[in-house]
Amino acid sequence: MADMEQELRRLYGYPEDVTYDQYAQSRREEASRLQEEGKASEAAEILRFLANSIKGDREACERLGAMYLDGSLPKDPWKSMLYYTAALSPEGDRISGELWGRLRDFRMMLLRSRPVGALRLNHDDAESACCGRMMDALIEGSVSLADVPEGSEPEFSMTMSREDLKALKLKGHEIMPTPGGVSVMDLRTCPFCGAKLTVSERSKDWGAFIATLRL
Ligand SMILES: [Zn+2]
Repeated sequence: MADMEQELRRLYGYPEDVTYDQYAQSRREEASRLQEEGKASEAAEILRFLANSIKGDREACERLGAMYLDGSLPKDPWKSMLYYTAALSPEGDRISGELWGRLRDFRMMLLRSRPVGALRLNHDDAESACCGRMMDALIEGSVSLADVPEGSEPEFSMTMSREDLKALKLKGHEIMPTPGGVSVMDLRTCPFCGAKLTVSERSKDWGAFIATLRL
């Protein structure tokens, strides 16, 4: 245990006469003070540091989740969901599950209300589907936009069952195992209908949904 404490002190540079837990507690209190003074982004910086520390920090994760939801920070339900999930707590699981459900419901409503034919994603979620099978995959959250260097063609990954992978005869892609199936990487076109992916800014519909989102 003493070695762990030494390692943490070396990493994070806190004084000899406090333990990591005491140090983390004082940083959380500092974050609360900053938040009360209306300095939410400075508070968030401290909380992010704690959340990313090798010891993790349930409270910091939950507080960041709340700040991305209540508007203390620019509202972002996706980030909020990730922080609540990272909290690894029953309350975090409950709220991230609820957020996931709300995002899924809205995505379903949005995709079904728009013409089918173009595969369009924004940086957080889906804007339109090219075909019925892709619509189902998007609604279930099986599709993720990939990080590619600026100026390159947009790419996405897609989770699917091993049977689907076999049936689709996809060639030349990196395949990663996932729980219950695989994730096919570096896709640029829909594996079902061949439509080309385009990426756009988040539409006003998403903006309106986020603005009114409350749990
Ligand atoms: Zn398609």
